[in-house]
Amino acid sequence: MNAYAGKILRVNLTTGSIVTEPLPVDKAKAFVGGRGLGGRMLAEEIPAGIDPLGEENKIFFITGPLTGTPAPTSGRYMVVTKSPLNNTIASSNSGGYWGAELKFAGYDMVIVEGKAKEPVYIYIKDDQVEIRPAAKYWGKLVGETTDLLLEEVGDPKARVLTIGPAGENLSPIAAVMNDRYRAAGRSGVGAVMGSKNLKAIVVRGSGKVELAQPDRFREVVSGVMRKIKEHSVTGQGLPSYGTAVLVNVINENGIFPTKNFQEAYFAPADEISGETLAEKYLVKRDPCYRCPIACGRYCRVDGEEGGGPEYETVWAYGSDCGVSDLKAIIKANNWCNEMGLDTISAGATIAAAMELYQRGYIKPEELDGPELKWGSGEAIVEWTRKMGLGEGFGAKLALGAARLCEAYGHPEVAMTVKKQELPAYDPRGVQGHGLQYATSNRGGCHVRGYMISPEVLGVPEQLDRFAVEGKAEWVKTFQDLTAVIDSMGLCLFTSFALSAQDYADLYNAATGLNLDVDELLTCGERIWNNERIFNLQEGYGAQDDTLPERLLKEPIPEGPSKGHVHRLSELLPAYYQIRGWDETGVPTSEKKQALGL
Ligand code: SF4
Repeated sequence: MNAYAGKILRVNLTTGSIVTEPLPVDKAKAFVGGRGLGGRMLAEEIPAGIDPLGEENKIFFITGPLTGTPAPTSGRYMVVTKSPLNNTIASSNSGGYWGAELKFAGYDMVIVEGKAKEPVYIYIKDDQVEIRPAAKYWGKLVGETTDLLLEEVGDPKARVLTIGPAGENLSPIAAVMNDRYRAAGRSGVGAVMGSKNLKAIVVRGSGKVELAQPDRFREVVSGVMRKIKEHSVTGQGLPSYGTAVLVNVINENGIFPTKNFQEAYFAPADEISGETLAEKYLVKRDPCYRCPIACGRYCRVDGEEGGGPEYETVWAYGSDCGVSDLKAIIKANNWCNEMGLDTISAGATIAAAMELYQRGYIKPEELDGPELKWGSGEAIVEWTRKMGLGEGFGAKLALGAARLCEAYGHPEVAMTVKKQELPAYDPRGVQGHGLQYATSNRGGCHVRGYMISPEVLGVPEQLDRFAVEGKAEWVKTFQDLTAVIDSMGLCLFTSFALSAQDYADLYNAATGLNLDVDELLTCGERIWNNERIFNLQEGYGAQDDTLPERLLKEPIPEGPSKGHVHRLSELLPAYYQIRGWDETGVPTSEKKQALGL
């Protein structure tokens, strides 16, 4: 089928076997690619209950049918595996250039199995695939590893995906990094690479993606490009100020979580906003492959340069830790990139530690570094470094907020869903978004159904953010459509400007299929249910579709969302019903049958 490379690369690090297999076309049609297809194959290939860091786990690096095509933002790929953070089905998305390069090398995905005896990396140059020794890179930071590998392969145009020390140390909040600053950040996927002694995958391809209807595709692409450029979010906000353009917007709505969600309004927000970042520290914009939006930032502070920070990072290290020092936030972000840490989880874990410290649960004498005081720029930078290295008290932080707070006997302090740290929007002031947090298959997550779009930004239409009526339907549709966008290999940010029909047009012209919007959304629903079934088999259930008690019981104390709590109990039954699940959150046999699961 056109648009797909048609080939899978399977590498077993225990036996050293390297084989190519044909892409299962029927499955690709049913699950689109990327997150969907990877999730399905993972569910079929690993038994329930295995240790995510054991040899039996597998890790999929998987592109979508539109990855590497001229479609805007088509550089994306997903890392799919069983999460060491929470045993859910992990699917972490990343941009940059690595995904497109894998497609050019002729593969839809690389499946890595087993465990190498010594550190290795995988080198892929079209049909030439080798497992090479990597002991000399073990322990090295992401930037240096990238430089050295490019030197070793003698090809500056090759693309490097690697882990840093955090992944090697099996931190359950470790990221997979590619193109230096791009991260498949969430769910601890970096630790799975570390557990396999896999330091990196270097790829270089000389092919291109074949399209079914090149003329039609060109026409659709020019239409969607126009929409992206004309839209205020994708044509102005994100290009000018990056994702941190949201700082002031979210704060003005009183849903900018502050001091580990104890508050939701941060008075000095403007000091850490995208506007301030652009004015003081931005060197250049740093787009992913074929991206006209170019939300990526590249900043300099005190002579130190690096990619980012993103809105989520600015928040996690900023208001969530009570920090208004943008320089320190940029430095902490650089450490995350170099160590290979998820910035959301890392910053939010430090915020949780600050609350444990505030309440006297963590004692000053336990700390072999800066005091964990709210607002301390020194603390966020130094503890991130120590967390990445697993050094001293940093090793405890590297476990993530849920495990840290449990270890201190205060799990209520962890602002997590299914053990994954929540991102940068207080759900008490955005009811639909909160439902999406509670039901996200990989745990606390904002990019599985970005309800901020209609509830705050008014895209595609303005909803009352405090209302619960009708929200379950919206959440379901957003979750299903997002599953499709992720699986195609496009960036979710395109969805500010594009409709479901636009995605169907791109997909059809690329593949030669002829799906209408309903059929496409059914693919999304299938992907969602497959992930749900995986989690159910791991012991998850209705009791886990929840939010931290603080968000359900304690009203927001001050600001524009003052007095609100999240009304999950009113939303969840409607959501289960709309999904075709029983009251315990299990897909009914009719639903499974209808989706072919
Ligand atoms: S919008 Fe931003 S994250 Fe998305 S592809 Fe473009 S630069 Fe990358």
